[in-house]
Amino acid sequence: MSEAVPITPTPAPTCLVDRFGRVHTDLRLSVTDRCTLRCTYCMPLDARFKPREELLSFDEFVRVVTVAAGLGIRSIRVTGGEPLLRPRLPDLIARLVAVPGIEEVALTTNGLLLAEQAEALRGAGLHRVNVSLDALDEETFRRIARADGLDRVLAGLDAASRAGFERLRVNAVSIRGLTESQVVPLARLCRGAGFQLRFIEFMPLDAESGWSSGQVLTGAEVRGILEREFGPLEPLASSDPGQPAVDWRFADGGSVGFIDPVSHPFCDRCDRLRLTADGQFRNCLFSTTEWDVRGVLRSGDADVDARLVALLVACTAAKRAAHGIGEPGFERPARAMYQIGG
Ligand code: SAM
Ligand code: SF4
Repeated sequence: MSEAVPITPTPAPTCLVDRFGRVHTDLRLSVTDRCTLRCTYCMPLDARFKPREELLSFDEFVRVVTVAAGLGIRSIRVTGGEPLLRPRLPDLIARLVAVPGIEEVALTTNGLLLAEQAEALRGAGLHRVNVSLDALDEETFRRIARADGLDRVLAGLDAASRAGFERLRVNAVSIRGLTESQVVPLARLCRGAGFQLRFIEFMPLDAESGWSSGQVLTGAEVRGILEREFGPLEPLASSDPGQPAVDWRFADGGSVGFIDPVSHPFCDRCDRLRLTADGQFRNCLFSTTEWDVRGVLRSGDADVDARLVALLVACTAAKRAAHGIGEPGFERPARAMYQIGG
């Protein structure tokens, strides 16, 4: 459902604060809904993609980000679908980095195309890279991703390191009955290579409605697996309140992060807004309403920027207190993760 926003607010606001006092400084841009994998928790095998003309152009993304930066957005994460499938992505990154007010531009990728593009992305000024990798065993990788590619992801991580990206992150979704055996190998790899590992709980955003609470391997359970192998973990104080991950320290050095949206929702600290590849603002992964940015951008009106401000303000104002997973009345969004942008 798309929400109409008729009136430009006056005077113009300078920050995006919602009814609960949450100030929004982070915008996630999905640049494509296409992907090289078909992860069970994200995309159906027979995914249908938006026609290319419905995806926002680079000029349109930059225009939205410029307006958003004027409202206090400081960090941009480029995601998808698989963002590295979008042709000439480094050109977009360079333009986003140059938007006044934007302090950090980051990328979330499945890593398959990273080896080829790491140098160009680094040259474009990209600040950070997160690589999604749930399994180090080929069979488990294939069961989740429904495609091959583990060797390419590992080559991508290596290339990103060599290109000079620091604090490389590895994000691993945890699924009961599937990923328990991958926890220790992932931790060993990341500790050895200096990658920041984060485990993420499986959320009800899969396209095939297969999610059930029983499949959520919680952060606490993953910690238990790690502690049996590496000894006690200790929680670390967070330096960034907007950061959903809670970091824990290994007794012999190094740390590991946990993003637990199901067992420990962090909605009260959420500072994120999202723009889908087809140009819709969303105020939550679980939003059931969208705000039509593409329609405004392509309206031909003289007051496009003022209308974008109004959309951002309305989208932020409508944000609910929490996603409500597991509560009575919880409604899954109509679109799956690959169509929203993770
Ligand atoms: N294709 C890129 C990738 O996989 O990194 C970027 C898009 S993907 C949607 C972004 C992140 O969302 C990935 O780390 C992926 O593992 C995560 N993700 C997708 N579906 C999820 C779900 N149902 N629950 C938890 N995380 C999910
Ligand atoms: Fe593709 Fe990322 Fe979704 Fe996997 S999680 S299907 S890699 S968009």
